[in-house]
Amino acid sequence: MPKIIASEQSETEFRTRPVRGVSLFVSEGVIASVTAHAEMGCLENKEILGLLIGNVLRDDAGTYVKVTDTATSGLDADEISVRFRKDSIEELFISMDGCDGDAIVGWYHSHLGIGCYLSDVDIKTHVGIFGADVGYALVIDPVESKLASFSCSDGRPHAVPMIIMT
Ligand SMILES: [Zn+2]
Repeated sequence: MPKIIASEQSETEFRTRPVRGVSLFVSEGVIASVTAHAEMGCLENKEILGLLIGNVLRDDAGTYVKVTDTATSGLDADEISVRFRKDSIEELFISMDGCDGDAIVGWYHSHLGIGCYLSDVDIKTHVGIFGADVGYALVIDPVESKLASFSCSDGRPHAVPMIIMT
C-alpha cells in the first residue's frame, strides 16, 4: 500500500535523474489516464480528482519524484468542486493497493475552462494531504487542453517543470 510522502524521507533509492534541474517525472500512461478521466468528467460537466502514485528517488542533487500510476474512486463533484465520496474511501484504498509505486506523491484534479492554477481551496487540500512543503499537484483543464504541475512551499503554490517519460 503506497504511503503519503513526508518531508523526512526514510529510505530512498539512489538513481541519477534522467534530466538535471527537474524534480518531477511523470509517465506517459499517467498523463493518458488523467486526461481520459478529465475528459470523462467534462462530458458530465464535473471536475475530477485522483491521487498520483510513484516513487521518491535521490541523486547527488537531492530527491526527486517519478509518478507511475494513479488511483481514484467515487467522487462528489460539480463544475467547480470535487472531493472523494465519503463512502468510497475503501474503494480508494483498493485502487491504491493495485498501484505501481510505493508512495502517494501528489494528486490531480481538473478545472473546467478556467485554466490551470491552485485555488485557495486547492492549496488547503494540498497542505491537508501533504503538509506545506511536499507533494505535487497536477491540474488539467480539458476545455482549454491545458495541463500544469505545481508544488507548495510554506503553503504557497509554485509552478514546477515536469518531464513526461515514455
Ligand atoms: Zn482546483
